[in-house]
Amino acid sequence: MNRRLYLLFPGALLSLVLSVALSQPSESTSSPVELTVLRHENVQDFDRDQVKEVLDEMGRVLRKKDCPDDVPCNVSFKQKGKVGVFTGPNVISSQADFDAIIGLGDRFNIKVVSSIDFCGAFMPSAVACSPVGIPGTSIVVEESFFLGDVALAGVILAHEYGHNRGLQHRPGSLTNLMNPGVGPDSRCINSFESQRIRQRPSAAEAEGVHAAGKHPHPPAELPQAAVLVDPLGTAEAAEANRQEDVKKFVHRVYLHGVPYEQASRYTKEDAKTLLHMLDDPKEQKWWTNIVTTICFIGDESTVEPLIKFVNGGPALESVSSRESRSVLDAKKAACAHMGVIVNKTGNETAYNYLSKIAVANPATLRELKWMPATEAPGGGSVGAELAVAATWGLAVSGKPEAAKTLEKINQQEAVGRPKVQRAANEALKTMPTIRKSGLKKYFTEHHGH
Ligand SMILES: [Zn+2]
Repeated sequence: MNRRLYLLFPGALLSLVLSVALSQPSESTSSPVELTVLRHENVQDFDRDQVKEVLDEMGRVLRKKDCPDDVPCNVSFKQKGKVGVFTGPNVISSQADFDAIIGLGDRFNIKVVSSIDFCGAFMPSAVACSPVGIPGTSIVVEESFFLGDVALAGVILAHEYGHNRGLQHRPGSLTNLMNPGVGPDSRCINSFESQRIRQRPSAAEAEGVHAAGKHPHPPAELPQAAVLVDPLGTAEAAEANRQEDVKKFVHRVYLHGVPYEQASRYTKEDAKTLLHMLDDPKEQKWWTNIVTTICFIGDESTVEPLIKFVNGGPALESVSSRESRSVLDAKKAACAHMGVIVNKTGNETAYNYLSKIAVANPATLRELKWMPATEAPGGGSVGAELAVAATWGLAVSGKPEAAKTLEKINQQEAVGRPKVQRAANEALKTMPTIRKSGLKKYFTEHHGH
């Protein structure tokens, strides 16, 4: 910034530039935080120029004063090395997948994958997920958001970086960088957040964490273990509880998935509005949020239209790969979160449908005429992705019969279904907690990274 001013106005502003530089020595001395960037082998190729655009924007989100109480934070980012490639999970659908990815590469990195369906809980509406309060930097982000709108990508990465530096969410205003739902204008931080973000990630301590054992806590507690909370002001908390128009609510990027508590407060009437939006192709990019919110409302009348939504629609191969990924995510969200409706109402139709999808019942799968003959976008089988979602749906249903189905899946060693088996194993372990503590606790406590 200073240099640019100097070049533009060599004479007149020189003294001003010098005085600014002298009064804020840190402005001119801090070097960029270097991060490596890796992509899954099935994620589309991108180069250093594209990465530079995103990392520059990430720095601008933090440095620029974007609203009256925004506290500028002098930090910038630079790519280290070239874009790396990794193999392994590309659709993150369990804690095991997430752990496998988070441990990859060096300790200062960003990993780009096709789809994040799991962030503490099974949430196809999630687009990024990162551990809270780690010494290094490790951010997992979906390809369509990393390579999509640059302003939004900058916000998403800055938000995730904030989690790595120990920040929790600060709900209340859409302009808050640490709001759970963000848009390109969510760029404001307070002094506490600025101070945390200015702390540089440290390799030495990261070493300690890895050496101390990969996962000393049960998976569910892992990301929350080292959280530093900036206490919510009462005014902000009241603001956070205000219910906004349901259309606006679903038109937002929920980084780690649609928040259960807020979504479940909407009404049967709101669910009707949302069902109309599911019929509108213009709303397609928000379908995952829409379906999730319908399910979290939990009204039985939505079961039939939701099953129709999963069964119907154009062949996946006939639409672009980005579109097909978002449609598939919405169908998975329906399978996973219909479990919430079963939990709240005991609806048998929804329960039977989920059981059949989870065990890959041939007659039920034949109804899904949109299924590609070959692979899901980004690799892997569409049938398996849906089965994983339905498996989590069964767990969330809380039904004792569901546990039996999950046990069966867990014991089956069917070809091509190791992912489903892994999900069933984790889902089984989660069921007692869901049954004991309820849905609200299950979904809320797993949010925040
Ligand atoms: Zn977050």
